[in-house]
Amino acid sequence: MLWFRKGLDQPVRTLTPKTSSTLHGLSPGRPAPTPSRDAAPEDVCPTHALKEHDGVMDVDYTQCIQCRLCRQQSLKNKMNWEEGFHWAQMTSTSLPDAFHHSVHVRVVDAGDCGACLNELHQLASPVYSLHRLGIAFTPAPREADVLVVTGPVTVSMKETLEEAFQSMPTPKRVMAVGTCALSGGIFSSSFAVAGPVDRVIPVDIAIPGCPPPPLALLDGFRLIMGARPENPLDGRVRK
Ligand code: SF4
Ligand code: SF4
Repeated sequence: MLWFRKGLDQPVRTLTPKTSSTLHGLSPGRPAPTPSRDAAPEDVCPTHALKEHDGVMDVDYTQCIQCRLCRQQSLKNKMNWEEGFHWAQMTSTSLPDAFHHSVHVRVVDAGDCGACLNELHQLASPVYSLHRLGIAFTPAPREADVLVVTGPVTVSMKETLEEAFQSMPTPKRVMAVGTCALSGGIFSSSFAVAGPVDRVIPVDIAIPGCPPPPLALLDGFRLIMGARPENPLDGRVRK
């Protein structure tokens, strides 16, 4: 019991990493659109994510798996690389019912390889401390405001995903997490895959990445909550 008494007498508050120096390295980064004359050729990309338009080599983030082949040293020209984490994209026309104060989140693994789920689990760690921001995971779709779906939707998970979506109260939001959820990713041609998430249920927020880092996931939750600070960790801290 001594350690318990010591904890009560000398509490240590978890600190939030707030400065740009402490955020550095928390994102693996991703390729950025690059002038064609400096860019890697389209055919180095194994997932056909590179497409040239009007002198710019563009990146289709619903296909990119961040393999870095377009950035490898042996290439004469390379794609630019950006290390940010504001990767969330709104896919519905608007989010009229922002959840300003708190959201309950139900996660459905629709066929994930494990890595996207692992990044989601990191959000509960003291580094990200998502509960501080009013975000909580729930095992029950009936209590959830946000349905987070990872992985391509396998044939055997299609009905379960539809049922989870139907049983949520309104208003509700769906966040598709990871390249597989957005396009099927590296599993898209598998006989076991029914398709990306938006082929089964409507998607409001898309987070690309393979897997997306926790800060990119947090960026998506903050967007759903109607505030999108420069640093997704900024927010409510109990003094
Ligand atoms: S990082 Fe890999 S998947 Fe993404 S655009 Fe470059 S080569 Fe393609
Ligand atoms: S997007 Fe990448 S990390 Fe996520 S489930 Fe697909 S293969 Fe795994």
